[in-house]
Amino acid sequence: MLKTEQQLREDVVQVGRWMFDKGWIAANDGNVTIRLDDDRILATPTGVSKGMMHPRDLLLCNLRGEKICGDRECTTEMAMHLTIYGMRPDIRSVVHAHPPVATGFAAAGRALDIGLLPEVILCLGSVPLADYGLPGTPALTEGMLPYIPKYDALLMANHGVVCYAEDVIQAFHRMETVEHFARIALVAELLGGPKVLPRAEIQKLFDSRARYHVKVHNHFEPGCPMAAEDMPEVNEKIEITRGQLLAIIDEALKVRGVC
Ligand SMILES: [Zn+2]
Repeated sequence: MLKTEQQLREDVVQVGRWMFDKGWIAANDGNVTIRLDDDRILATPTGVSKGMMHPRDLLLCNLRGEKICGDRECTTEMAMHLTIYGMRPDIRSVVHAHPPVATGFAAAGRALDIGLLPEVILCLGSVPLADYGLPGTPALTEGMLPYIPKYDALLMANHGVVCYAEDVIQAFHRMETVEHFARIALVAELLGGPKVLPRAEIQKLFDSRARYHVKVHNHFEPGCPMAAEDMPEVNEKIEITRGQLLAIIDEALKVRGVC
């Protein structure tokens, strides 16, 4: 059964509270929208903590981003939401936040694009990194354009994460998956580096999506996500003895005339 506008307002307030409680947003960060119909978008206002909103704080705007109802002002990142709705007719909700670990990857210039966890491969495929763009300007979305048709979660370089889905709860869950993936990838790096799945195993996961009723637009393409075979050789592990290591160091010092 379709939810009423009031129920959807309550959903947005709830998602804002969850994001705040999880530490994904500080101060007035983040924004959430729902496409109500062909003409109207329900949006969080600017200048308000998304963890402390009331359903009446939300506003309605049209598909040009102009406010049509509400006391507060529209989010400055509305253009990003409108771009996603314009390119993806299947999408009914967009959620943007700054979850710290995934945003750390984005700030380090690193996509979350390794084939590491079955759940992430099934649900998202890969999480690409969109080029940096100045917030509040069209540049913010320019770097995302190549990825929006295929992917449902994007890292935004030096900024944060945006996820979108058929409803606001699913969009929130996608953000949760991205942040959880980022945390696990970081721990795997601290423990000696992730063991990326081989191509054949990643393909099996893509093939099993229909069985799990997963509706996503991406297919397994080379490097999206990266398979074990795609990983740069710099991560390749080699074994040498202590004696061999000392010999290499001696040789290097001799070449530089140190000893
Ligand atoms: Zn932001």
